Amino acid sequence: MSQKVCVITGGTRGIGFATVQAFLKEGYKVVLYGSREETVSKALNELNDPNVEGRWTHLIDEEAINKDFTEIKEKYGTIDVLINNAGISDSTPFVQYSEALFTKVMNLNVIAPYVCSHAAALIMKEQGHGVILNTSSMVSRNGQPSGVAYPTSKYAINGLTVSLARELGKFGIRVNAVAPGITFTDMVKALPEQMINPMIQAIPLKRIGEPEDIAKAFVFLASDQASYITGAILPVDGAMAV
Ligand code: NAD
Repeated sequence: MSQKVCVITGGTRGIGFATVQAFLKEGYKVVLYGSREETVSKALNELNDPNVEGRWTHLIDEEAINKDFTEIKEKYGTIDVLINNAGISDSTPFVQYSEALFTKVMNLNVIAPYVCSHAAALIMKEQGHGVILNTSSMVSRNGQPSGVAYPTSKYAINGLTVSLARELGKFGIRVNAVAPGITFTDMVKALPEQMINPMIQAIPLKRIGEPEDIAKAFVFLASDQASYITGAILPVDGAMAV
């Protein structure tokens, strides 16, 4: 059997980087995307693995992403798994919000997964199989009290996930999302302690998630162990109650 291929956006650090490592461990060929050449090079140096390559194409550039994914398919023969992980969070109060900020968050968190899913689905439909995994969030259940674009984007990701699962199932393509709770990455390290501490108190498992906790869920959902699971939004949040 030929080596399976997984494309992961936002693979240079945090949850994405741990997910790249987990899929390499599973024996996949991995194509990781980052926002800049320097961060991609840094991640590739750290991984030091012949089974990973990196790209920094703009994820909302439909033409460029289509070209990239076609190249990946031609080079490796298949795209088995796409993980839409790149994302930015925000906590700006609504009174200070601007359309520009709202659009920035929506572009990376929603438009990019749409563009990448579309490019991948064309290839997966032709090959008759594929798995698309999105990165939702616990905030897609109850919203959050500031940074309105972020929860809005994650509710949209849930809609994209369930709808694509229904539309693409007949082509052998499964579509699911992982909804992380608070996870110890740069995104969380940037939050003030007054925000983080009450969150830990609200987690029954009494710890913040690690990027590896989320990576394991992606590995499961990509695997044949999840062969009848599609349209699911899997919470990986220690049963956090906010
Ligand atoms: P992170 O900030 O550590 O990493 C973000 C990744 O996205 C990086 O690899 C970066 O290169 C990429 N990225 C950022 N801006 C980009 C751009 N403009 N173009 C292309 N790529 C860009 O974040 P993380 O905490 O690992 O989050 C990863 C995903 O998990 C996000 O979708 C986030 O919303 C989601 N999430 C995180 C948490 C958490 O607590 N960390 C909780 C729920 C959901």
